[in-house]
Amino acid sequence: MTTIQEFHKKSIEQPDAFWGEEAKSIDWHKPFTQVLDFSRPPFAKWFVGGETNLCYNAVDRHAAKRPNDRALVFISTETDQEIVYSFAELKQEVMRMAAVMQSLGVGKGDRVLVYMPMIAEAMFAMLACARIGAIHSVVFGGFASGSLATRIDDATPKLVVSSDAGMRGGKAVPYKDLLDEAISLAEHKPSKVLMVDRGLDKGFNKVEGRDVDYATLRAQFMDADVPVTWLESSEPSYILYTSGTTGKPKGVQRDTGGYAVALSSTLKYIFCGNEGETYFATSDIGWVVGHSYIIYGPLIGGMCTIMYEGTPLRPDPGIWWQIVEKYKVNVMFSAPTAARVLKKHDNSYMHKYDLSSLKHLFLAGEPLDQPTHEWIMGELGLPVIDNYWQTETGWPILSAMPGVEKTEIRFGTPSFPVYGYNLKIFREDGTICDPDEKGIVGILPPLPPGCLSTVWGDDARFVSTYFSLFREPQVYSSFDWGIKDKDGYHYILGRTDDVINVAGHRLGTREIEEAIQGHSAIAEVAVVGVADQLKGQMPMAFAVVKNADSIATPEMVVALEKAVMKKVDESLGAIARPSRVHFVTVLPKTRSGKLLRRSIQALAEGRDPGDLTTIEDPKALEQLQLALGSKT
Ligand code: ATP
Ligand code: MG
Repeated sequence: MTTIQEFHKKSIEQPDAFWGEEAKSIDWHKPFTQVLDFSRPPFAKWFVGGETNLCYNAVDRHAAKRPNDRALVFISTETDQEIVYSFAELKQEVMRMAAVMQSLGVGKGDRVLVYMPMIAEAMFAMLACARIGAIHSVVFGGFASGSLATRIDDATPKLVVSSDAGMRGGKAVPYKDLLDEAISLAEHKPSKVLMVDRGLDKGFNKVEGRDVDYATLRAQFMDADVPVTWLESSEPSYILYTSGTTGKPKGVQRDTGGYAVALSSTLKYIFCGNEGETYFATSDIGWVVGHSYIIYGPLIGGMCTIMYEGTPLRPDPGIWWQIVEKYKVNVMFSAPTAARVLKKHDNSYMHKYDLSSLKHLFLAGEPLDQPTHEWIMGELGLPVIDNYWQTETGWPILSAMPGVEKTEIRFGTPSFPVYGYNLKIFREDGTICDPDEKGIVGILPPLPPGCLSTVWGDDARFVSTYFSLFREPQVYSSFDWGIKDKDGYHYILGRTDDVINVAGHRLGTREIEEAIQGHSAIAEVAVVGVADQLKGQMPMAFAVVKNADSIATPEMVVALEKAVMKKVDESLGAIARPSRVHFVTVLPKTRSGKLLRRSIQALAEGRDPGDLTTIEDPKALEQLQLALGSKT
């Protein structure tokens, strides 16, 4: 076997040979004539002239060979459902959905906005779009009508596929009301709304002439045989908006052939998932992890995928592990925020079930702090692999790659640049940092297959947003701040916006958070830089304690604040010490579990917190305001 370094080197130095070989793992209707066309940098076209189809690769080719093998297990602990679909059944459901969409006038290139809970029909809808060459744009179910409206106006869908309601923690969230509100706010009016009626919101509003019922239409197309629409490799498969953690979401446009090849390669080299095995990603179809590793990746690899509607805690914190045992899950993918949630609960739930089928647990989406990484790896007794990527890239940028070489897992680092990414840490003048020197995580183009081909409808924004960091060289900016150590391990230190400049010293919010997280009383923490007349900026911390008893009296609050500051002094030096440590019970996060540092910072500086449509719990902001008002 080769080493990760050799493997990576080959992918960068001989992209045609490397990716030409990888492209063999998917089925092409028409072979490509050129691996890479990079004649118009930074725009890259992969597998030029090749024709393929995501749905064909995910469903048809497996249904032909292994029709009765499990393709999808839909589990809802909200509605107590568990439905298993074979590849043949999945194909039939996708063709029914595709026929319904065609009957509503949807064809190649049309946009279909999917605003759905985590139910099997959402997957059918996405795959049906891929089958007929329509471009899906999934918006996280339950997003407020304002955020939905801006996405409707940007993607201008012909059709919206939705549902009466989603369920969360036993409560129904009426999606249809939110959708109607969004359509009334939006300038663009979709001509049809296809409703999957779950019977959760009995009297939901129906708009005459626009809203149609899925069950009724499906009944007319039970034997539908909808052929695949072949797409040229660079033709768009979907649009997905970034999470909106740092402001206005960007519409990431994904290609077809490059994405299929890239995902297929990751199953082999990163996830070690084989045909016939089972993949369980706990994400949501509204996020990029859901697109790549609930839907397309595992299915393209011929794996069974688990689609789970519910929380990690209901009916009890053992639910995920119970699923792992029952379906002999081989690959699991989750987020650090979920790991931290589980950490707060009784760990005996992790030991009640037989987890021997599981090879690895992958975590991504935000920094995985060292204590949590160490804890979960210890409890599970298997490699827990932190991987770093973005909606833009569609698959991991930094990760361990056990399918290439088994390397030592170190806590707090997503390890090494993944093949295809010519990743460097840059100084602000465009030169490359030395080992252990902090800088901006950038990628020298071309971006590898499957990464965003452009910003939807706005090529100029693609260049100005992502490639305008330096005049020379042209570099894709991740907007994250990172470091590469002497052994080649990479650390993500936070967003470039979040770097704090204290009296000329540059500090990553992540570093300070990591230090504070090392205090045994702290469950979670957010650090932001707050304008300071003397020092330019000062770090300020907002922490959630593990146990409210540790801050039961005002004296204890003061003592813990001091202890936390001391912890920072010890790890990073007094320069990094927060001016204040405020204790709260919940931090403002996006619905995908990312800290809204920008809003926290704005509040701490007495400014308007900005666009909050993607916030999980608005009460979190009230708490911050209270903390700031009463103590500063
Ligand atoms: P927006 O771009 O709209 O502000 P966002 O960046 O939160 O939203 P995503 O594409 O969902 O949208 O998130 C990607 C970001 O998440 C990365 O740029 C990085 O900041 C963070 N991230 C993801 N995985 C990791 C990881 N393993 N370690 C550290 N940070 C991570
Ligand atoms: Mg981003």
